[in-house]
Amino acid sequence: SLSDRLSATFKGLRGKGRLSEADVDATVREIRRALLDADVALPVVRQFAASVRERALSAEVSGALNPAQQVVKIVHEELVGVLGGQTRRLRFAKNPPTVIMLAGLQGAGKTTLAGKLGRWLREQGHAPLLVAADLQRPNAVTQLQVVGERAGVAVFAPEPGNGVGDPVDVARRGVAAARERQHDVVVVDTAGRLGVDAEMMQQAADIRAATEPDEVLFVVDAMIGQDAVVTAQAFLDGVDLTGVVLSKLDGDARGGAALSVASVTGRPVMFASTGEGLGDFEVFHPDRMASRILDMGDVLTLIEQAEKAFDAEQAQDLATRFASGEDFTLDDFLTQMQGLRNMGSIKKMLGMLPGMGELREQLESFDEREIDRIEAIVRSMTPLERRSPKVLNGSRRARIAKGSGRTVTDVNQLLDRFADAQKMMRSMRKGGGMPGLGGLPG
Ligand code: GDP
Ligand code: MG
Repeated sequence: SLSDRLSATFKGLRGKGRLSEADVDATVREIRRALLDADVALPVVRQFAASVRERALSAEVSGALNPAQQVVKIVHEELVGVLGGQTRRLRFAKNPPTVIMLAGLQGAGKTTLAGKLGRWLREQGHAPLLVAADLQRPNAVTQLQVVGERAGVAVFAPEPGNGVGDPVDVARRGVAAARERQHDVVVVDTAGRLGVDAEMMQQAADIRAATEPDEVLFVVDAMIGQDAVVTAQAFLDGVDLTGVVLSKLDGDARGGAALSVASVTGRPVMFASTGEGLGDFEVFHPDRMASRILDMGDVLTLIEQAEKAFDAEQAQDLATRFASGEDFTLDDFLTQMQGLRNMGSIKKMLGMLPGMGELREQLESFDEREIDRIEAIVRSMTPLERRSPKVLNGSRRARIAKGSGRTVTDVNQLLDRFADAQKMMRSMRKGGGMPGLGGLPG
């Protein structure tokens, strides 16, 4: 993975006060290779590598970060920039209905997305209408009706028995119906082909002209890799787009398509589809995707937060522990927990880590007082116990419980949590993907 490669490259950089041109070139070479492996298109890789190189060479030496961390930070910031910077929210029309048109190849995930968007909008108090303007495939209308029913969202479909019908006309009538029936958002599902073709592009352009959408979302399968660039360019030229939706991000795609499409179109990625279910959908966060591409999400987040919340010395210490062979102790665990408190908004920080969707519920019930309890327990341990929790037999646990005013069960639970966190820290050192914050009280 990229993080493995960078760690190897960075071993040589450690301890240097400033990055030399040779250091930067070696690092940029690795980044270039890793991006190509992640299926980012070559011209995008070239341009990206050049801007990272330029920034790294002129980088100010930061007190809080070592040179290796500095390059990671630059790469991450550049990635976020290409992916659109901040999360781009949907634009709603001043005079409803807001029209959202979906465009993309057949099988990209448009119809599925229509249902997901519909449900998501409904949950936010909107009254969406899905319009079935894909009359290409025989069952496309039925598919949208099924999806709409599951999402609890109304669907506008051409009346059966009227022959094939004209998708542009259906789209136009769908928007009119929305206005009549007080729907404030319209999602127009359109037809796609397996490859880009002129007739399909013309139809999409005509639907656009007829419905004057506030958003034209280009839905692209994240698994198609390099082809995403050609397709995106064709849709940009043929229909014009206001935003991108990446689908099938639940596959093993590393996100290269996101970077390529965003870079080539200059349009922000706005949503991500992560499965076949209606709930497998999220607002796209450029910083999280940048972390996914780098495959080192929480390291980056912690570097960032460390810079903000810790003094430089502590940050260096934290990062060194991550990188070096030293083991993660209960003292580190406590420091990490206290760091969370210093950072103020724990929920916000956890929200930045990739793959945190399922933990949202747990986050809602997160109680900062839990950190006080952890602190009391760890403070009741001897230095030896904090370094080597192995020695914590029953009588020691009872002593600690008494000393901290907690129960032995509390002590045991803390030690379990610590063991999880330690395991994750160890696997992270080996570059084992996203460890998360295993020690999170919950
Ligand atoms: P359309 O032709 O663009 O309308 O694509 P569909 O919405 O019909 O989706 C094509 C296929 O991809 C269907 O089998 C969907 O269930 C599946 N699909 C759509 N989005 C996702 C996704 O995010 N993840 C996965 N794994 N499958 C998806
Ligand atoms: Mg479809």
